[in-house]
Order: sequence, then C-alpha cells, then structure tokens
Amino acid sequence: MKCPNCQGRNLGRIGNEQYYCWTCYLELSIEDGKMNINQIEEDGSLSSLNDIFYQSGS
Ligand SMILES: [Zn+2]
Repeated sequence: MKCPNCQGRNLGRIGNEQYYCWTCYLELSIEDGKMNINQIEEDGSLSSLNDIFYQSGS
C-alpha cells in the first residue's frame, strides 16, 4: 500500500483499516474497498480530500 499523495510507503497503521502518512501527514482509511483521504486539522478534526484525489468523470 502506498500513499496516494506522495506515492511513498512511509505509512503507519493507526487503527483497523486506518493508516497515517508520516511524509504528508494525511490519514488514510479504507471503507468498502475505497480509500478515503483525510487531512488532520490543527484542532484534530478531519477534512476530506477525496474530492481532490477522486476527480469526477474520466
Ligand atoms: Zn504521503
């Protein structure tokens, strides 16, 4: 498994189906076989970056 942002493998597992990229500080979670990408804000909340990585249409 690689980080979809930096293509790196510097991922730490933080939970069941949850990973954290130490390079770009993104939280990655697998849900129904699809990867969700979240940015962790300074206050600890998550903001989804899925819209950036999964462009609609092709
Ligand atoms: Zn990364």
